[in-house]
Amino acid sequence: MEVKCSICGRKQEITKVHKDFQKLRKDPTAPFICDYCNDRLKFQAREEQKPKQPM
Ligand SMILES: [Zn+2]
Repeated sequence: MEVKCSICGRKQEITKVHKDFQKLRKDPTAPFICDYCNDRLKFQAREEQKPKQPM
């Protein structure tokens, strides 16, 4: 099944082993985030969780 990333628009072929496959099959308009954007979001979330340097 071909899906399009909601963030970068990149198309990706997913199979039923993909964690979002069932969700997207039921609702093809559900947002899908590709591996690349997933990694980027995870990285950003981690950066935001870092304690701020004391002045
Ligand atoms: Zn993407």
